[in-house]
Amino acid sequence: MQHTSYIEISKSAYQKNIQFIKEEIGPKTQISIVVKGNAYGHGIENIVTMAEENGIRHFSTFSADEALRVFLSSQNGSEIMIMGMLQDEDLVELILKGISFYVFDFERLEAAANAAKITGYKAKIHVEVETGFHRTGFEWEERKKLVKFFRDHSDYFELKGLCTHYAGAESIANYVRVRNQIKQYKQFKKWFDSQNITFDKYHTACSAATLLYPETKMDMVRLGIASYGFWPTQETYMYRFQSLPDDNKNPLKRLISWKSSVMHVKSVKMGEFIGYGSSYMAPRQMTIALVPIGYGHGFSRILSNQGKVLISGVIVSVVGTVTMNSIAVDVTDLKNVKKGDEVVLIGSQGDNEISVASFGESSQQVNYELLTRLPQDIPRKVVD
Ligand SMILES: *Cc1c(COP(=O)(O)O)cnc(C)c1O
Repeated sequence: MQHTSYIEISKSAYQKNIQFIKEEIGPKTQISIVVKGNAYGHGIENIVTMAEENGIRHFSTFSADEALRVFLSSQNGSEIMIMGMLQDEDLVELILKGISFYVFDFERLEAAANAAKITGYKAKIHVEVETGFHRTGFEWEERKKLVKFFRDHSDYFELKGLCTHYAGAESIANYVRVRNQIKQYKQFKKWFDSQNITFDKYHTACSAATLLYPETKMDMVRLGIASYGFWPTQETYMYRFQSLPDDNKNPLKRLISWKSSVMHVKSVKMGEFIGYGSSYMAPRQMTIALVPIGYGHGFSRILSNQGKVLISGVIVSVVGTVTMNSIAVDVTDLKNVKKGDEVVLIGSQGDNEISVASFGESSQQVNYELLTRLPQDIPRKVVD
């Protein structure tokens, strides 16, 4: 069965991103590729395979179901780390599969100790500490109780990591807050050191922290958005622009392209309305092409009379409202547009490009949101 659109993932672009990131962080720091949100819309299985081909052996997910998908697609026994949600009922299976996970409260610690007891294996845990993000993480006041817990249950845990997450390292407005978080994290580390409790890896950095705050890289970085070829914000890119090598000012490459095809072509007389309602009246005799993509596929309604797509290498405009399953675009000035012609929603065609940023700006979404909202059932294929 044919789908109405498909997504291409570029292997060579991915390779370049990983290469650049490796040069950025140096040989001492490990990379964990963050694959939450269906690998930022790219498809967990595609990314795990490509990442492993590029030497990556560590993946981070938000939840247990994502971790399982990584587990099933990994060919190299890569390490898997859950940073967020899991159910206590999942713990035995996770421990048996050697999947590590964050702990940020005593309930989960106790459940993990019990599950470890049942399996006879140690639970691999990453202890998340609260440094100022105020989402999850052990509070400074809980440190003594935590140390006591680890001493009392030392048979049940492998302390894989001490970690935290920054509250907006991608924006200079948060500079003071991030600095304070780094300080707070170091205090936690010092405290555990003083208690002779050490962790395999100290890790705090996301993409923005990796690119802007070198001291946050430590033993491992958890990279999402940069590995998919995007600067976390325009600001991050501007900040780093000067320090990028002259021959490589644009080192992060988009992997993703989103394509569909023309479903139908028709003429509309001047003065007629196009689509639902009266938001667009043909100002002249027009030719429009119908494209089978709508808000039900992640093409936001905000793009009504706003969106752009590429046909025959030319940027053309959406006319009328975006409906659930289709859009109409103005191809009056193009010759010979016909059913079946390729339509690019995100990506390049000829000399033109519709970037994720421009698509995102016109639909008022940040990169992260736009990518992860691409429906999982659109087929993805890896291309060179
Ligand atoms: C999403 C996430 C990351 C990766 O963030 P990017 O900005 O995409 O690099 C790192 N750590 C945690 C805890 C996260 O939730």
